[in-house]
Amino acid sequence: MFILRNCKFVEALTEGTSLAFGDVVLKDGRIAEIAPAGTVFEGENEELDLKGATLMPGLIDMHVHLFYVRSSQAEILLSNPATLAFDCLKYAQQLLHIGITTARDVGDDKSCPTVALSNAIKEGIVVGPRVIPSGATLCPHEAGVEYMGNILEYVEGPIEMRRLVRSNFQKGAAFIKLYGSGSMMAPGSDPGVRILEEDEIREAVKLASLRGSYVAIHAHGADAIDVAVRSGVRTVEHASLISESTLQYMDGRTDVGIVPTLAVMHGLMESENYTDFAEAADRTRKLRDNVIACLKNAYRHDILIGWGTDVHMATYQQNPGLEFQLRKEYLEYANVDILKQATINSAKLLMMEDQIGSVKVGKFADLIVVEGDPVEDISVMYQPPAHVIKEGKLIR
Ligand SMILES: [Zn+2]
Repeated sequence: MFILRNCKFVEALTEGTSLAFGDVVLKDGRIAEIAPAGTVFEGENEELDLKGATLMPGLIDMHVHLFYVRSSQAEILLSNPATLAFDCLKYAQQLLHIGITTARDVGDDKSCPTVALSNAIKEGIVVGPRVIPSGATLCPHEAGVEYMGNILEYVEGPIEMRRLVRSNFQKGAAFIKLYGSGSMMAPGSDPGVRILEEDEIREAVKLASLRGSYVAIHAHGADAIDVAVRSGVRTVEHASLISESTLQYMDGRTDVGIVPTLAVMHGLMESENYTDFAEAADRTRKLRDNVIACLKNAYRHDILIGWGTDVHMATYQQNPGLEFQLRKEYLEYANVDILKQATINSAKLLMMEDQIGSVKVGKFADLIVVEGDPVEDISVMYQPPAHVIKEGKLIR
């Protein structure tokens, strides 16, 4: 057994105990017991004394592209699948090192390196976070999306959608990623415009739910978001211009939510690591105030808001807490809600809340330790955690 001594708990992220402080027993990769501090346990045990530091569930990033490691798009496009798989491993390990114990990859090269990576991690061949792969993104023909190269499978009509959804699941996808609106980054694209038809989205939703899975959709514009939500998608990625009427429809529902990605927007506007995309920076700047207003409005509703970043590995390395910082400074969300978004809310959207997302007996021992109290002061999360534990093993 591995015993974490003198842990401070975050009430909103800890379940099944009334303790605010205590010892946590990890066994066989899971949380086995939460006990009062100083409890004597039988046998030879490994221990880590947290000395009053805060124990939290591991963080979840629901919107990453793990192949996004090399700084030149041309180099990414020309990489062979094995090279991409090693790049994905490098990014995934970087994420784990800074406390992301679960990463959902929402758009991979057609050769599916993240499926291979996800399996290799599960089998213990390499160390990494839990990786949840979508395989290629299913996207209709749209101006500029060619620049995304091999991460897209083009889809026209429900019959083709049916074939490609089945094909992605056959290749090992855990869920389906659709491209439902224009793009901030694609040259000449209009992010406000819906590019998928309702019958196409519904076909993907139907086939995914047959497999107990779901659809995530890239959608910036209000119409694209609304049609997607009413067609049964589970997560709306970016959700930049979500409307009041869509939010009213979503109010109180737990089968759908949004995954804002402020970090990538910020990166685009600052043009950090995106030197190819001056046009995209301009487009993003024009939408900025509107996006902030819409995402602030979303917070006034009883909806699930998950955690996403969508950034290049270099951005994560330079500023691991960027998304925390932006949700605080731009959106002015309450600290405790920001923490829930990065953990339990995302676990719910992933349909994994019985496995991850809170400190609870029976769940995976995916945990982080931070110095200070993140509920009082969210800037605690702007730095990497002091310790990261995945499935009961101390990573750092
Ligand atoms: Zn993305």
